[in-house]
Amino acid sequence: MGTVRDEKSSYLKSEALPPLANLKEAELSAHKCRRCPLWERATQTVFGAGDSHARVVFVGEQPGDVEDRTGLPFVGPAGRLLDRALNQAQINRDLCYVTNAVKHFKWESLGQRRLHKKPTSREIQACRPWLQAEIELIQPEVVVGLGATAAASIFGVPVRISDVRGKLTHVESVGKTCLITAHPSSVLRAPDPDAQRTEFNRLVKDLTLLRAFAG
Ligand code: SF4
Repeated sequence: MGTVRDEKSSYLKSEALPPLANLKEAELSAHKCRRCPLWERATQTVFGAGDSHARVVFVGEQPGDVEDRTGLPFVGPAGRLLDRALNQAQINRDLCYVTNAVKHFKWESLGQRRLHKKPTSREIQACRPWLQAEIELIQPEVVVGLGATAAASIFGVPVRISDVRGKLTHVESVGKTCLITAHPSSVLRAPDPDAQRTEFNRLVKDLTLLRAFAG
């Protein structure tokens, strides 16, 4: 496959990844990725982690500050909330694989703090082959998109979460059954404890649909 020139960033990005024999090879290759500019300010690539034969793959947005430092997905505040929701929905995270649509932390500074910055459509598209490779190598039965960025990567186009949330649906672009729900960080951002409880319960309700696959 040839290459395309990304005019805005001047990055050269291959349209397809090289053949990847297994997840380890994919991870090592992703650590050298320069398909978009996000690698420049991040500490490291945060590839997916978990059971390489998982029946359920969770897809978040991108690594956060803690994930960027540790190199592991979903280990910060949103990860802890996801763990609580999975626990309540009686889903075993150890039987699943957890990753992100975008593998480098995008951030802006506020004093000493590094604040999460939403990836652009271009960055989501640039990183999409890594997610496709993970799904291809694992062959899960269900792919779960947590939030709008994950949904956009799964569908290949932006979608409204409210249009697709909370149902197991076959998605042609990934060739898998998919479930779209909220990102745990959106529960954390809910304006007050009542709203947080409501959003948390909605997330748990959606996740219970996975019990047959990873309960
Ligand atoms: S965010 Fe994805 S596409 Fe961009 S450099 Fe990192 S791994 Fe590559």
